[in-house]
Amino acid sequence: MKMQASDQKDCPYCSGKGYFQLLLGGSETCTCCSGSGKSK
Ligand SMILES: [Zn+2]
Repeated sequence: MKMQASDQKDCPYCSGKGYFQLLLGGSETCTCCSGSGKSK
């Protein structure tokens, strides 16, 4: 049984959410992680 190490961390820009919450309402996809919420 192999351990599959996951080095993916939450994107620091969107805190792993994949998007930014806009103050005016709505949300914008994080361009840093392309909405995945994970940083490489
Ligand atoms: Zn992000």
